[in-house]
Amino acid sequence: LAKQQGRNRYHLFDQDAARELRDQHRELDRIREALQHGEFRLYYQPKVNMRTGEVVGMEALIRWQHPERGLLGPMEFLPLVEKSQMIVDIGEWVLHEALGQMEQWALNGHPMAVSVNIAARQFQHIDFVARLRAILDEHPDVPAHLLELEILESTALEDVDMMREVMAACQAMGVTFALDDFGTGYSSLSYLKQLPAETLKIDQSFVRDMLDDQEDLAIIEGVIGLASAFNKRVIAEGVETAEHGVLLMHFGCDCAQGYGISYPMPAAEVAGWTRAFTPDWKWDHLARNEWD
Ligand code: C2E
Ligand code: MG
Ligand code: MG
Ligand code: MG
Repeated sequence: LAKQQGRNRYHLFDQDAARELRDQHRELDRIREALQHGEFRLYYQPKVNMRTGEVVGMEALIRWQHPERGLLGPMEFLPLVEKSQMIVDIGEWVLHEALGQMEQWALNGHPMAVSVNIAARQFQHIDFVARLRAILDEHPDVPAHLLELEILESTALEDVDMMREVMAACQAMGVTFALDDFGTGYSSLSYLKQLPAETLKIDQSFVRDMLDDQEDLAIIEGVIGLASAFNKRVIAEGVETAEHGVLLMHFGCDCAQGYGISYPMPAAEVAGWTRAFTPDWKWDHLARNEWD
């Protein structure tokens, strides 16, 4: 009987797995359709220099304007897409869309730097450099140095030699790099030394807890110190309140991105937001009073 039950259970598991696979295929088909029907959008979230108030750029973040389910964030569909080759196609759509938008801003006389997230699989694709070059060539009014690619620290560590080579090829075109979610990928210092990224982006999990977790605060201090020792820029993501901003400034972090500055917004709102943005000088004022 036990054997029989075991076999049945195994059989059940088989069916579940098969059903799950079928559902995933169906969802991926639906996502491909969404790409063809133009249902994806890019939202833009500002990055600012907290001290000078300068808007240093925007991060492009994908959304799916689903006809029935509404506006979906990337966590609702990208994890599945990243398991398939389709991430390469979606990633390419993102680059085209971002460059097209940058061209429009440049032609309007307000050039804007934009950061684009690149998935591991897309970056490791054999054609990545050639495709990036083609996209840049199609947008001659966009200076390549305004394009920054965000690569997860963990992706960068998968194959450091390959990584360094591809990054160098992109940098030769003028494109720059940020290591995203930095602090979560367990970079050894010697790897970091080998990666030519210009910017470290402190992961939002450390920022979220920095006000009451001494260890997270220590990690933030460490990353800022590391960036300065390696002559890299450092930006904090997930900056939700002035308190976060003040503390980050105190530790020497100049740039920040987060809901405390702005939520991600459609491209059409970017110019108006940028014009209206005045830094919260209270941050600087508070920082001086509290810490000096
Ligand atoms: P990420 O690159 O680390 O982007 C930061 C995420 O944090 C974004 O979520 C952003 O909306 C959110 N965020 C910004 N400020 C705050 C804040 O103050 N508090 C909190 N709690 N969250 C904040 P989103 O848009 O849902 O994107 C999630 C992730 O999806 C991104 O993380 C990135 O890894 C990935 N992603 C987004 N767009 C793309 C894309 O076009 N291509 C690829 N390959 N990945 C993308
Ligand atoms: Mg990012
Ligand atoms: Mg990040
Ligand atoms: Mg993240």
